[in-house]
Amino acid sequence: MLPAAHAVLDMAALTHNLARLRERAPRSKIMAVIKANAYGHGAIRVARTLREADAFAVARVDEGMALREAGIRQRIVVLQGFICQEELELHARYGLEPVVHALIQVSLLENTRLEKPVTVWLKLDTGMHRLGLNAEEFEDGHRRLSACSSVFQPLALMTHLANADVLSDPVTGRQLDLFRDNVVKLPGECSIANSAGLLAWENAQVDWVRPGIALYGASPFPHRTGHEDGLKPVMTLRTRLIAIKHLKVGDAIGYGGDWVCHHPTRLGVAAIGYGDGYPRHARPGTPVLVCGQRVPLIGRVSMDMITIDLSECPQAVVGDAVTLWGAGLPVEEIARHADTIPYVLLCKVTPRVKIIEI
Ligand SMILES: *Cc1c(COP(=O)(O)O)cnc(C)c1O
Repeated sequence: MLPAAHAVLDMAALTHNLARLRERAPRSKIMAVIKANAYGHGAIRVARTLREADAFAVARVDEGMALREAGIRQRIVVLQGFICQEELELHARYGLEPVVHALIQVSLLENTRLEKPVTVWLKLDTGMHRLGLNAEEFEDGHRRLSACSSVFQPLALMTHLANADVLSDPVTGRQLDLFRDNVVKLPGECSIANSAGLLAWENAQVDWVRPGIALYGASPFPHRTGHEDGLKPVMTLRTRLIAIKHLKVGDAIGYGGDWVCHHPTRLGVAAIGYGDGYPRHARPGTPVLVCGQRVPLIGRVSMDMITIDLSECPQAVVGDAVTLWGAGLPVEEIARHADTIPYVLLCKVTPRVKIIEI
């Protein structure tokens, strides 16, 4: 019997996507971004599958520690680094590589005697204005850390692109210029590109690239799908039909009754809802796959169920599989129908959803 809400994870698609991204950035090493539980796919599972990744990146030190405890041996970069001595010591103990994005971290490195030195990624703010040192601070930080016994030499160097998903945006060119002007003369390895940078900005392909979303098969670009870049969806979110009923014109469906049948309707009820991570804001008309056919969502999404119009799909019966996104139904398309982005949909799949690896 098909289980209720489950996510089928196609691990071969994950290695396919890594290989695809390598072809697109043949001169760069790949730091696979597996923060936020690998965008909902399971960080340890993904790290074990991506044996070919040159390094991993996570957001927070505890994410890196969990990977080490699971036996992951590749380099692991912690994108937010540390904000106190205790967290810095954890980086050294677990062999994690912090991003240094503020001078307070430089001082902590100068004033802490570590068990062993750490590799640091010194981050220049080239226009994102979130984390990173401005050009003046960067020079100061670089000089100080180059003389710091707690730090392996030479320092690795990075920045982050704010608008790389918008191909016509002049900001990216300016960010790349600023990085070149301040950094390229220095000896260490460099990293600039996220998925969008890797796929759309060849000049952003330096020593290391840092793809996240593209590894999972989704596109970072607003009007594109991963498929168009040769990527395959890793996650297919599915459930089963648990009821079918026949409604007449004028019948209202679900909470609030805001969907009113305007034709005699063969209604399907599928066992998935916002309690599983399906977006509550998915609009009526959001496609769902039943028997290989697209049918529209109607009525409000509730916690454990959605309602769909099966009038054009007479062959569907209780127990049939219902695909919400993934193989055959791009998550990018569902994101557009729910006024969100694929990153959010993938991250929000809840622990109730059973994981099936294939
Ligand atoms: C999340 C993140 C990435 C990966 O971004 P994608 O758009 O998922 O490819 C790369 N670099 C940094 C600093 C990040 O925070």
